[in-house]
Amino acid sequence: MADHSEDKKNTVKTRNFIHEIVENDLLEKKNNGRIHTRFPPEPNGYLHIGHAKAICLDFGTADKFGGKCNLRFDDTNPSKEDQEYVDSIQEDIRWLGFDWEDRLYYASDFFDKLYEFAVQLIKEGKAYIDEQPADIISQQRGTPTRPGTESPHRNRPVDENLDLFSRMKAGEFPNGAMVLRAKIDMASPNMHLRDPLMYRIIHAEHHRTGNKWCIYPMYDFAHGQCDYFEGITHSLCTLEFEIHRPLYEWFIDQLADCDYRPRQIEFSRLNLTYTMMSKRKLLQLVEEKLVSGWDDPRMPTLSGLRRRGVTPASIRNLVEKVGITKTEGIVDVALLEHAVREDLNKTAQRVMGVIDPLKVIITNYPEGETEMMEAVNNPEDEGMGTREVPFTREIFIEREDFMEDPPRKFFRLSPGTEVRLRYAYFVKCTDVVKDENGEIVELHCTYDPASRGGNSPDGRKVKATLHWVSATENIEAEVRLYDRLFNVEDPSGDKDKDFREHLNPDSLQVKPVCYIEPFVKGAKPLDHFQFERLGYFVVDKDSTEEKPVFNRTVTLRDNWAKLAKL
Ligand code: ATP
Ligand code: MG
Repeated sequence: MADHSEDKKNTVKTRNFIHEIVENDLLEKKNNGRIHTRFPPEPNGYLHIGHAKAICLDFGTADKFGGKCNLRFDDTNPSKEDQEYVDSIQEDIRWLGFDWEDRLYYASDFFDKLYEFAVQLIKEGKAYIDEQPADIISQQRGTPTRPGTESPHRNRPVDENLDLFSRMKAGEFPNGAMVLRAKIDMASPNMHLRDPLMYRIIHAEHHRTGNKWCIYPMYDFAHGQCDYFEGITHSLCTLEFEIHRPLYEWFIDQLADCDYRPRQIEFSRLNLTYTMMSKRKLLQLVEEKLVSGWDDPRMPTLSGLRRRGVTPASIRNLVEKVGITKTEGIVDVALLEHAVREDLNKTAQRVMGVIDPLKVIITNYPEGETEMMEAVNNPEDEGMGTREVPFTREIFIEREDFMEDPPRKFFRLSPGTEVRLRYAYFVKCTDVVKDENGEIVELHCTYDPASRGGNSPDGRKVKATLHWVSATENIEAEVRLYDRLFNVEDPSGDKDKDFREHLNPDSLQVKPVCYIEPFVKGAKPLDHFQFERLGYFVVDKDSTEEKPVFNRTVTLRDNWAKLAKL
């Protein structure tokens, strides 16, 4: 038997308050011991890392208690929804490591049932057609402290309501001409019970039902009933729905003919610093081409994070670390970066790559010779073995690893100093070659043949070890370096400023000519590497055989923490 604590979907290790509720319900034999959850996205955008919290909780809870979890698309608003989103959402959930098996539902599967239920409520005198314009209806709702005003259509006779509703459905009226409202209580302290809308007219083609309908149920009229129709036992959702719960319960009370009720439990959303998770605003970034698309590696979408090189395990670990509570808070995005490093450190193949190349000629090394140097693939995992890296007379090092006139604490290469080339030799800088503008174009070094493998021949020490790549045997690649998309902690927190004003202009830096050791030849999109000293990188989808492209996922250390300490 698989031990749950070893489960690859390690979202279930820690107990949370929801697990306790579920456990209690099981003890009390509610719903005959059935546990059934669902993840209910609206297909009006791509999933983001906030959704991942809900996904891990919905699927993870079902998993932990031997239950089931459905995927349900809440597709009640055809004007904003699209098949592209439906497809991407499925891909992203699978990528995260979860499976709804054959339980894929759409709110639109239940449109007929919802319509019948609406007719039932009309017949029972619990729903009516209101012909007032939206702004009047909204004004009449009152405020939390002042009761609402009843619509003049509230007491319309049942027959007239039935007639108008069926004509609404038949397409006789334009958008906005009338709505169907539940007749509950215009004085309720809960505003959502003040005769909420149930149906509106939208003459738009639906991505699944086509032109069958021109009236669509409101989310609040669909969501709870879909849970009920699907036999959901625990309906987990974010805190903003707490206030909607009495309405959902009111609808189910009118509908249910037995004791079974889905139980809604609310938890707090995941928010991250320097990250914006409103789907509406993310769409704006995409439409205004402020990013390259929903999967731009700077986006907090799951497809963006995937392309950036973030692994599903690190997202699941983050969600686990953050925990499930009812307290609203904002999580430091450094925690995500930490989870990514932790995961990739264990799994990523190490290679050497130079992203800001400076040529070095080793003047006493034989011309035309290539030596294969043995390099460790992953010091964290001996099983990953070793590889050979070609060493030649001409190599590249990182430009910033050399200073002609170094300050006292600079221990890397400078005229006269000796450093180790990782896995290769000790070298000493003898000459600096400059162009007519005084720009350094090349260094001359000598090497010590006795230091092969980078080992000191006589116990003498060097203060730095540099990465390098052969100038003649390498892969030329483009490297894309990313920084945070926003330069303030809470990009939507500023009432006086548009969130777009907080975009970080330096969030993408492209290095068109970089050199990577030949090992990466043939690497495929989503293959991960650690470029020694530079960070974790992943092959981008733009990559080709001729021009590989690598995205930097994260640096090896948290540069921001370092800056904060200065
Ligand atoms: P909107 O409803 O404005 O389009 P949404 O982010 O709520 O945006 P949904 O598709 O309705 O999008 O979300 C699906 C599920 O994911 C919901 O149950 C919602 O509560 C949950 N969810 C959304 N954002 C977060 C978040 N930041 N943290 C945790 N759960 C979230
Ligand atoms: Mg929502």
